[in-house]
Amino acid sequence: MLSDLDRKVCQKHKLEIQTIDLTQSTADQDKYLCIKCLMEKIDIQNMALVDETKTMIKQMKSEQFNNKIKEYQRRIQNFKQIESQVKEMKVSINNTIDKLQSNLNQKITIMENELNDSESKTVNSTFEEDVRILSKNYKGSFNY
Ligand SMILES: [Zn+2]
Repeated sequence: MLSDLDRKVCQKHKLEIQTIDLTQSTADQDKYLCIKCLMEKIDIQNMALVDETKTMIKQMKSEQFNNKIKEYQRRIQNFKQIESQVKEMKVSINNTIDKLQSNLNQKITIMENELNDSESKTVNSTFEEDVRILSKNYKGSFNY
């Protein structure tokens, strides 16, 4: 049992006893609390002074604002990259379509020329030549 004198000073912090825990389940040696004992009991990790709290709020807001700016810049950069890729794709697709168009145009021109040539050849061919060609293609019973 502690004497009255011992109880006036906390053994852990060597500070003056200012509060007494009257909870029945609290052991006798833990009932006598100095201000530090009290703060430990209240949960010192989640306690802060008003000024400290104000400073933390200011820092938190500033950090959140900076993060927001960074996040926006990052997203804008991403969209710019995608936009640039789309532009490149557009140029590439346009080139491909141009080539396709040009190829088709060439083919049409060649076929038209061939058609004109064969028309003029047909006109110019003799009956004997036509007979020879028909004989070559003839499969019998008026099929050629
Ligand atoms: Zn104490």
